[in-house]
Amino acid sequence: MSFWICATCGVEHATRPPVCAICSDERQWVPAEGQHWTTLAELQAAGHRAELTALEPDLVGIHCSPAVGIGQHAKLVSTPAGSVLWDPVGFVDDDIAGRVQDHGPVRAIVASHPHMFGVQVEWSRALGGVPVLVAAMDRTWVARPDPVIRFWSGEEQLLPGVTITQVGGHFPGSAVLHWAAGANGRGVLLSGDTVFANPDRTSVSFMRSYPNRLPLSGAVVERIARSLERFEFDRLYGNFDNVIPTDARAVVRRSADRHWGWVRGDFDALT
Ligand SMILES: [Zn+2]
Ligand SMILES: [Zn+2]
Repeated sequence: MSFWICATCGVEHATRPPVCAICSDERQWVPAEGQHWTTLAELQAAGHRAELTALEPDLVGIHCSPAVGIGQHAKLVSTPAGSVLWDPVGFVDDDIAGRVQDHGPVRAIVASHPHMFGVQVEWSRALGGVPVLVAAMDRTWVARPDPVIRFWSGEEQLLPGVTITQVGGHFPGSAVLHWAAGANGRGVLLSGDTVFANPDRTSVSFMRSYPNRLPLSGAVVERIARSLERFEFDRLYGNFDNVIPTDARAVVRRSADRHWGWVRGDFDALT
């Protein structure tokens, strides 16, 4: 079955609408030269490849080179009960699918939010029909419906020690993945850009739109931070190669307090 990929966000579409709904939303952008669609075959012919990078024991990053769409780095969490593919990239071929399966059978494919859907249904096909979980609240953003998609709400334990939970904010169904065994048992959070790991590696940001610099309210940020307090995690990986290497739980708390302070007007921008 043929399908189309939006060249700007890398999300698969069953048909080609005049413009990608994800990109024309206020959280994304359509290029000045207009909407452009591509295909897997075209990307392959142009030399795009997916690469694996070991991040820590039982966690690898997957990114495309050259980048496809937003250019996210997917994450593959491996456990004795199988793996979870998080934030799938907008490209897949037999080579990368085989190397992913070398890390054990993939039990679920989940994107943190619609910007990270990538070619999730195609990944499922390449991995033998793995379920694709989509937040029910974000179901209208699915542009390539398929029976492998299962809608979920709230929180789910995908595998022992691997839990996904919807904290909202960036999208109504924006989710994070908690991996209890990560960081040598201190816990890891895969945050997509629900919680964005900043380049200083000691703070995070919470935004409705990252490319268009649209902040979330202090109340929403506080709700996100509170909902993460019941998880133990020392390290936080964002949806690129951005990471908070240690003390991430406290970093989220401090960053939420800082966000509140700025949007409430506690600080003087002249200092
Ligand atoms: Zn798009
Ligand atoms: Zn996003």
